[in-house]
Parts: sequence; C-alpha cells; structure tokens
Amino acid sequence: MASRADRERAAMVDRLRGRGISDDRVLDAMRLVPRERFVPRGVAGAAYQDNPLPIGLDQTISAPLIVAFSAAAVQAGPDAHVLEIGTGSGYGAAVLSRCHRSVVTIERHAELADRARTVLESLGYDNVEVRTGDGALGVPDRAPFDGIVVTAMAEDGPPPALLEQLAPDAALVCPVGRHGSGTLSRFRNGREENLGAVAFVPLVTGGAR
Ligand code: SAH
Repeated sequence: MASRADRERAAMVDRLRGRGISDDRVLDAMRLVPRERFVPRGVAGAAYQDNPLPIGLDQTISAPLIVAFSAAAVQAGPDAHVLEIGTGSGYGAAVLSRCHRSVVTIERHAELADRARTVLESLGYDNVEVRTGDGALGVPDRAPFDGIVVTAMAEDGPPPALLEQLAPDAALVCPVGRHGSGTLSRFRNGREENLGAVAFVPLVTGGAR
C-alpha cells in the first residue's frame, strides 16, 4: 500500500508535469526521493508543498519546481558526472544522483554538509560525494563535469572557475541576480540563455565556515 508520503510525491509529480516539467528521468527521481527526510522534523509535514522550507543557518531547501527545473535544464545524460554548488539539505543532490552516474556537491556550511552526507548515506545514495568548501572555486580535482547546477544566486554571473571545469558542450545552470531575485541562466559553449525569473539565497564567496 502506498504511504502518505508516496501519495504526496505522486501528486507533486503531477503538479510538476502541469507546470511544464517533461523530463522523465527528473520526474521519476522526484517521485522517489523522500523530501521529508531532508527537512527539519518540525516542517516535515510541509515537505510536499510547492515552496522552499527553512533548513537552519538561514538557508532553505529549494522548492520542488526549481529543483526539477534546474535538474532538467542542465541537460546531462544518465552517464554524466555532475557538480552541484550549494548542497543545503542534500535534496537536490539526491534528485541529481538518480538522474546521473555520479554527483559531487559542495556546501560552505560544514554543519549542513555533514547533515546532508548523513541523510544521503542513510538513504543509500552512494554515487554522491559531499564536500565542504567554497563552491565558487568548483571542485578541480573531480573536474571536468558534464553539467553544473548552482543553487545559490551569483551576483556577477557564474564564477569563472566553474566555467573552466565544464566538459566541452556541457551546461552550467546558475541563478544570476542581486538581493535574492534574478534570472536562471544556462551557460554553454560561451553562450548564455535566460530560462526565467527565480529567487534564491545568495552565493557567498570567500571561504567555508
Ligand atoms: N540544493 C539545496 C538548496 C540549498 S540553498 C537543497 O536542495 O537543499 C543554497 C545553499 O548554497 C545554501 O546551503 C548555502 O549555504 C550554499 N552556498 C552559498 N554560497 C556557497 C558557496 N560559495 N559555496 C558552497 N555553498 C554555498
């Protein structure tokens, strides 16, 4: 019998489809990853609502639509090795890990990175590596990447190190703007495409903490 969470996830996937998400690998991942395990217990009952939720340290788990949209927008295949900047809860990394061969995710708050690593391990996501550090520098020792998803807003465009760590023809998806609002952009082969308006917490550069 389907649990309440299973039913809520199925309904969430229907809404995502209605909002234009059509990538089946992404929708399948969203149907399987237990979002309630990535949020603090106090807000677990709201895990399948269509909004971001607080995860501590002034950070948020992104709304399901933005996680699905970013995962689809990076347009990387099942064999891809992808990088996520801003692990936060680890939920986005879990979704990416179901869509791709391997995922490296980096978070500047050690406490969030440790928590995300623990949840991902307990759920058996063994193709995700969680790092603590400044994601603006990328993860050079694991580059090149077949896709990069940035989940925090960069003020002045994507950090140059990330563009350098992209494999040829691979895409970098990054929100660009100030004070939390801007546009989600896709960068590939030196070209930039605007994918729509978004709100995100800021990308804070200059060291982990
Ligand atoms: N993908 C996350 C969303 C997290 S919000 C999820 O699914 O839950 C963005 C995260 O980016 C925050 O946790 C924030 O601490 C982190 N962040 C901001 N600047 C960063 C940087 N320079 N390097 C790494 N992480 C950063």
